[in-house]
Amino acid sequence: MTYQVLARKWRPRTFATLVGQEHVVRALSHALEQQRLHHAYLFTGTRGVGKTTLARILAKALNCETGITATPCGTCSSCLEIDAGRFVDLIEVDAATNTKVDEMRQLLDNAAYAPSRGRFKVYVIDEVHMLSSSSFNAMLKTLEEPPEHIKFILATTDPQKIPVTVLSRCLQFNLKNMPAGAIASHLERVLGAEKIAAESQALGLIAHAARGSMRDALSLLDQAIAYAGGDVTEEAVRGMLGTVDTGHLFEVLEAVASGDASRALAVADAMEARSLSPDNALGELGRLLHRVALAQISAEALPEDLPERERVLALARSIDPEDAQLYYQIALHGRRDLPLAPDEYAGFSMTLMRMLAFTPGGEAGARARPATEAEARARPATAASAETKGAAAPRSQGTPAPFDGDWPALARALKIVGAAKQLAERSELASWNGTRFELAVPQESRALTDKSYVERLKVALREHLGRPVELAVTVGAVAGRTVAALAEGERRARQEEASQQMGADPFVRELVTSFDATIESIQPVGKALRS
Ligand SMILES: [Zn+2]
Repeated sequence: MTYQVLARKWRPRTFATLVGQEHVVRALSHALEQQRLHHAYLFTGTRGVGKTTLARILAKALNCETGITATPCGTCSSCLEIDAGRFVDLIEVDAATNTKVDEMRQLLDNAAYAPSRGRFKVYVIDEVHMLSSSSFNAMLKTLEEPPEHIKFILATTDPQKIPVTVLSRCLQFNLKNMPAGAIASHLERVLGAEKIAAESQALGLIAHAARGSMRDALSLLDQAIAYAGGDVTEEAVRGMLGTVDTGHLFEVLEAVASGDASRALAVADAMEARSLSPDNALGELGRLLHRVALAQISAEALPEDLPERERVLALARSIDPEDAQLYYQIALHGRRDLPLAPDEYAGFSMTLMRMLAFTPGGEAGARARPATEAEARARPATAASAETKGAAAPRSQGTPAPFDGDWPALARALKIVGAAKQLAERSELASWNGTRFELAVPQESRALTDKSYVERLKVALREHLGRPVELAVTVGAVAGRTVAALAEGERRARQEEASQQMGADPFVRELVTSFDATIESIQPVGKALRS
């Protein structure tokens, strides 16, 4: 028996075995059970999510000899012929290769004739957005007055390009990208049935590389089996995909967090020597930073069976949560800019240097001390000034504090949390007469003017100032004297400062010249991270 590729062998043949599209399956099953049939269906979604597979199952549901059903028997001659791709009344057209008006017209002319074997003549038109406008017009005529025995199943990756006149005559279903977890567990089932052993890490890597497409995942699995020559191991899959050993990434992050530029760049060199994909590395670095950030919120957020769990937790303790956010942004931006870099490794090293440049030196007390003077210079002390600009000096409890009209400073000093804190931070002082605060919040923060939040803010103000106050909050124009707006301004200034320091620093300049890159490529990253 010849080898059949997994994607074909394991193509779902029933609604029940279709992974990850339960919402579509449920709607279609109900419609079939209640015999409420539409004459045109449109399946949208990215490639490989199962649009044509779903179309074939629907064709069987409509033509199964047991009757119209959500559970086609799979054994009658109609079902078998549809599965084998030789059912005369199932006409499959790939619009990407078949857009000539004449062909389309001929196809639709035949629609007038009754089906020769089945209950319905089913037209499946894949990549339907590729049809020419005259082909669409020809199709529209049939859609406007469809003969009873005709069903259209249209599939597309790009519904925007379909004329509204056609869209409005279709029942539309959007197929979702499949989550990596669902793909991995499906791969595990397939391998179980195929009696091939696999490491779960290996399947996770394939699932991520497939980016939501089950078909791609099964093709990659085929490749991995061939590549590994037997059991699917993590090492083989990494080799096949050119993915980076997470050990390298831990090393990179540990070096960055301790401000050790030479160690970080040495790891980058080692990765280059092994021809590991920088694009992949930055993606994995982002994933690792996401885990670190999760661990910082709660260790329980990490899966118990995560292989490098202890190492992630250690990183989570040694990296400042704000830095973890910043590194994450830098990794994402670095990956996005990779195609623009002089070469991929320059882009990768620059991304690491950018992380190093933004590693705040001001809080370095808790960090490992840089080993050499050169490394110390590679870490401009960007956070030093930020520390002094932080919150207004805390006031000892019970001592009445004067209010000098600086609302942002007062707002920062208040002991409040949650929505009341947000109200304080996003509002601006409109007026103050010694007892009555009038605050304004912008339209988008309207939700914060809820009575209970205003009351909590009022109580906090009273406690802070040590005397009764009145408080009114209105929704309206805000000029920008809010804690949130100021924090954003400070963040920009800090990054500007970091860029300048990085440009002026001889050590960084030398690194940059040796990578033939320009310092102008530094840009402020991300949104308010420190507000
Ligand atoms: Zn059947």
